[in-house]
Amino acid sequence: MYKLAIVVPCYNEEAILKQTTEVLLNLLEELIDRAKINPDSYILFVNDGSRDDTWDILCREHDLSKNINAISLAANVGHQNALLAGLESVMDDCDFAISLDADLQDDISVIEEMIDKYNAGADIVYGVRNDRQTDSFFKRSSAKLFYKFMSAMGVKTIENHADFRLMSARVLKQLSQYNERNLFLRGIIPSMGYKTDRVYYSRKKRTGGKSKYSLGKMIKLAGNGITSFTIRPITLITALGFIIMLLALAAFLYTLISYFTGNTEPGWSSLMISIWFLGGVQLFSIGIVGQYVGKAYFEAKQRPRYDIIENLKHK
Ligand code: UDP
Ligand code: MG
Repeated sequence: MYKLAIVVPCYNEEAILKQTTEVLLNLLEELIDRAKINPDSYILFVNDGSRDDTWDILCREHDLSKNINAISLAANVGHQNALLAGLESVMDDCDFAISLDADLQDDISVIEEMIDKYNAGADIVYGVRNDRQTDSFFKRSSAKLFYKFMSAMGVKTIENHADFRLMSARVLKQLSQYNERNLFLRGIIPSMGYKTDRVYYSRKKRTGGKSKYSLGKMIKLAGNGITSFTIRPITLITALGFIIMLLALAAFLYTLISYFTGNTEPGWSSLMISIWFLGGVQLFSIGIVGQYVGKAYFEAKQRPRYDIIENLKHK
């Protein structure tokens, strides 16, 4: 029987943590009773620099159950980095791990199916939502646009898969070799290869509390997803610049011909429009290139991604 670690990042989740631990513990105990997983399997909560009572609740739950471990990070480093902190700290102490959001929006009843697929030889099992009715219209349409855009930009992602997935220990170890600061797990993991499988579920409403993904954080994640995986935007800019150059050349030839045939044009506004338009294109393009330069700047610093300041672990 293989040892499972469930990894749950938590940022200001005091409103739902008690319920979450209870539900997850029940699931874990049931799986252990039915001999699906090793009795030493556990849940690891990662406190991502919460400012509410999240950590106190986790300490209490750790005292109460031998299947609950918790680590606390020195600062709020964001969902992706918090998840990585959790995955890296379980990778030497499990056969496989499942990552899950604290709000239980992802249907935990498919976890057993994930485990079956792992036992059947899959190294990565993606949880894929086949129905997003419970998300707001805005979230659904922005997510859809995001996946469309990502694939147009050449980034391999699994549509409607967030960070609910199973990974074997060897995948976790390989993942820990990826040293980038701008972490976008949903892009990295599908590019790693291995034998993969999927389970389908419908996404539920948050059990309580508010979404910790503000619009700003969502845009940042999407931007990271693009700029850390593809240079296609820069390729597009180069192509655009080339096309505009050809257009300008054609316009020049046209003016030259008009001059000799005596058809000079008054066209003041057309001149202004093209100046403004080209100015805009240039600024936009420089901006995109700047995004990549900025990324390179932060990668070059090699700053640590997180710092674990407390580690509650049962022996
Ligand atoms: N989260 C985190 N750090 C952050 C933001 C979020 O660890 O800076 C955690 C959060 O506690 C939750 C998960 O990431 O377990 C997903 O966040 P949320 O449910 O708010 O996102 P949504 O489902 O609205 O996309
Ligand atoms: Mg959520």
